[in-house]
Amino acid sequence: MTVKSINPVNGDVIKTYDQMTTNDVKKIISGSQKAFLEWKKTSLHHRSEVLYKLADELRSRKDELAELMALEMGKVLKEGKSEIEKCTWVCEYYAENGKEFLEDELIHTDAHKSYVTINPLGVVLAVMPWNFPFWQVFRFAVPALMAGNVALLKHASNVSGCALKIEEIIAKAIGMSEIFRTLIIPSDMVELIIENDLVKAVTLTGSTPAGRSVASLAGKHLKKSVLELGGSDPYIVLEDADLKKAAKSCVSSRLINNGQSCIAAKRFIVVDKVKQSFEKLVVQEMSKLKVGDPMTEVDLGPMARVDLRDELHAQVEKSLEMGATCLLGGEINSGKGAFYAPTVLSDIKWGSPAYHEELFGPVASIIVATNENEAISIANDSFFGLGAAVFTSDNERGERIAREELEAGSCFVNEFVRSDPRLPFGGIKGSGFGRELGSYGIKEFVNIKTVYVK
Ligand code: NAP
Repeated sequence: MTVKSINPVNGDVIKTYDQMTTNDVKKIISGSQKAFLEWKKTSLHHRSEVLYKLADELRSRKDELAELMALEMGKVLKEGKSEIEKCTWVCEYYAENGKEFLEDELIHTDAHKSYVTINPLGVVLAVMPWNFPFWQVFRFAVPALMAGNVALLKHASNVSGCALKIEEIIAKAIGMSEIFRTLIIPSDMVELIIENDLVKAVTLTGSTPAGRSVASLAGKHLKKSVLELGGSDPYIVLEDADLKKAAKSCVSSRLINNGQSCIAAKRFIVVDKVKQSFEKLVVQEMSKLKVGDPMTEVDLGPMARVDLRDELHAQVEKSLEMGATCLLGGEINSGKGAFYAPTVLSDIKWGSPAYHEELFGPVASIIVATNENEAISIANDSFFGLGAAVFTSDNERGERIAREELEAGSCFVNEFVRSDPRLPFGGIKGSGFGRELGSYGIKEFVNIKTVYVK
């Protein structure tokens, strides 16, 4: 069996990869376990040095890696370069702070000595999506390795080139190839890995159906799991907001990575009083964008695959049939590739795909609310709970809404939601469970062990 990387600009096959067999995978898992027994004994100082080397290696290959992402999944070059820079940041962040996060914690009891110490779990499987092919993997792998675990990666099938490149880069920095292995396998082989006794945990970043499947396998085999799933982030725009700034932020967030980001602004919820001015500004911002080959100087490239583009278009058409109005775009570009024109929908109706589902592409959906309270209810009327934002000139008002009202893992005021190595990241409700990044992320795949000495 083989798997192909296809250029979404023109449909050309970039490369064909042989998939691994069950035996190949079993051998790799045994190798990972052997490597774990060595790696867990290395000092935190050594792991930190390795992470600094990894950051240097990534930095020196930034252009090459950005080109690979542009080819395999259509990311525009400038965004690919920032993605690699962000990976170097996460390496350096945990290199600098990991030791402190993993230190023993003394707890006074009636014992002579009692404390909490942190041990790694062992081999951890990561099932990852194509949208940020480097960042998603590094934000899981760097803290997991720093904590003393070893990792197996099953990446999305359309970015096998990126997956193998990550394996090569990590092996070079660490000097031990089995600490991080890439498996070129179809998703129906994931159970084979989760059920293996040597594999202690699994994390999946991806869609709701994939999350449900991996979570039930983790439950069946009693393995620790972390899920980072989809989102339909609400961005509330109140009547006192700086509308120009709000429109710019909403559009920038919506269009990152050609509209294919889990924490993109997917529902712009605007109060009636400023609806018309806001709509105008959003259309202006969306019309400015240059769409084209991601290897050239453009703002937007193609979507990652033609089937995903067609799925998005079906969601747009159904939302229009159900009463939304189209202010811009809404059509499939003629010609080759997975391009979709920047689209603005307004007056989104309850019950339609743009209200309830995740639209994973360059489509802005405007929902109108009569006031703040209704805007909050609409924001929370969602299966998802990943990110949320609120725009207002009154920071106290914004902070109250963010802190007390919005149901999401990350709530930002007057800024678009972004991940940052220093801040915990993850969702609630249908967006998953567990956290990545910050001091919380490094404690997901560990044994928080109590030691009691009488
Ligand atoms: P996807 O289709 O769910 O694929 C993600 C990964 O899961 C791929 O490696 C895929 O392998 C694998 N997979 C699919 N079905 C599976 C199954 N039944 N069992 C085991 N593995 C399975 O998602 P995607 O299209 O790559 O990514 C887009 C989705 O990811 C969006 O919903 C987005 O919001 C979400 N996402 C969330 C976050 C977050 O941090 N919360 C970040 C990025 C993306 P194959 O490619 O071989 O099918």
